[in-house]
Amino acid sequence: MEDNKNLIFRQIPSVDYLLESSPIKRVLLTTPRSLVLRAIRQVLDDIRTRIERTQMGDELPDLGLNNVVDQIVKRVSILSQPRLRHVINATGVILHTNLGRSPLSRRVIAGFNSLAGCYSNLEYDLRTGKRGSRYVHVEEILMELTGAEGAMVVNNNAAAVLIAMDTIAKDREVIISRGQLVAIGGSFRIPEVMKKSGASMLEVGTTNKTSVNDYESVIGPDTALLLKVHTSNFRIVGFTEEVGLEELIALGKKYSLPVMEDLGSGCLIDFSRYGLKKEPTVQDSVAKGADIITFSGDKMLGGPQCGIILGKKEIVSAIKANQLNRALRVDKLTLIALQETLDTYRYEQRAIRQIPTLRMLCQSYQGLCRKAKRLLNLIGEIDEDNLSIGLCDGFSRVGGGAMPLEELRSRLLCLTTQRIPAHYIVESLRSHGPPIIARLEKDQVLLDVRTIQEKELKIVAEAIRKTAEKGTERIS
Ligand SMILES: *Cc1c(COP(=O)(O)O)cnc(C)c1O
Repeated sequence: MEDNKNLIFRQIPSVDYLLESSPIKRVLLTTPRSLVLRAIRQVLDDIRTRIERTQMGDELPDLGLNNVVDQIVKRVSILSQPRLRHVINATGVILHTNLGRSPLSRRVIAGFNSLAGCYSNLEYDLRTGKRGSRYVHVEEILMELTGAEGAMVVNNNAAAVLIAMDTIAKDREVIISRGQLVAIGGSFRIPEVMKKSGASMLEVGTTNKTSVNDYESVIGPDTALLLKVHTSNFRIVGFTEEVGLEELIALGKKYSLPVMEDLGSGCLIDFSRYGLKKEPTVQDSVAKGADIITFSGDKMLGGPQCGIILGKKEIVSAIKANQLNRALRVDKLTLIALQETLDTYRYEQRAIRQIPTLRMLCQSYQGLCRKAKRLLNLIGEIDEDNLSIGLCDGFSRVGGGAMPLEELRSRLLCLTTQRIPAHYIVESLRSHGPPIIARLEKDQVLLDVRTIQEKELKIVAEAIRKTAEKGTERIS
């Protein structure tokens, strides 16, 4: 077998030979050489791997020139496509970090259209003709919407926490409850961010119980800040005690210490009015008097990736003046998207209708049932022997570490098959153009219509029909 393999390895066409073949020469007329070379190397690598893995009795790959060239031409076409692509989110997880969290509103896209392709007054004061600040464009609307004295924006919420702590507590101590030492998505951990900022962390209380006394007993001359982190992606339930923001602020007042709250998700709307569980809003935290508040732009706010910092004027000014800010600053695309998103919030009903994240969150169960029916009608008749399609009830999730206990009742398309393995259906949907990301649960493929956009329903229907047809080929 091994001797045989060596013989076969020697039959693989060489890169130079392939480059000289006429079909590849034709490809080279319209495609850069570096891209064609990448495609050739990838195809040859795949062939080598397949030969290495063949065992006695397996069929060996076809090394005929035509077949190899065919594969290369296909690979060139794949490599020519943009890498970052539209995918359809059928997982039902609204803030799916791996799928780009919040889709942006039409109004934001219109903002890009009119502003991204030209010069703008990004850092130019049109009144004085002098240098201006890039933050003014979103500062005032943030203050208007939340009641905060000061506002600014950085690259993401992790950066917001970092720069706030660096400004307020560098080389000093920050007190935090053990129940709030959160990790978000593996890459954001409060203790690590704290270390980077040069602040040292004083953990108080226990995982499930922390009292005001626990904080008060460790306050000393080096204490710079009391920190509260919203445990956005988990809940400790049962025998618990947490110190509320008001109590922490009262304690801060007593010792003249600032209080910071990392809200994580940061809602500007009270979603309990729309049938969801009560979550604290940003306005609540401002009204209670938190000195600094941080949250993400692309979680519940439904805007672009950024970190929003609100709070007392002097502290926000000090954060703006921090040298780190130069490294964490947002670009104009983010500012355009944030400006348009925030403007939409001036009218709550409009925000719910126009910001995709909010619209998906507030979709009624009846509306979802109708959407699922529309999808079913678009699919039409298919061969039920290959794929049986039904509708079922299930739950969507908010995701992005927000509202972890919220179960949003939804309507799902449920695909089952006796003959094709369920993971094959999932893969088939994922290889569609554009790819559709579905959920696999106990040998059932589930597509939650909540996160499928209206204009994507047709594409999903087509992909499901194709999958049913492919199933036939696979079996025969
Ligand atoms: C999500 C989250 C972060 C990190 O925010 P990014 O915008 O992803 O950097 C920090 N703290 C909390 C509590 C969060 O939920």
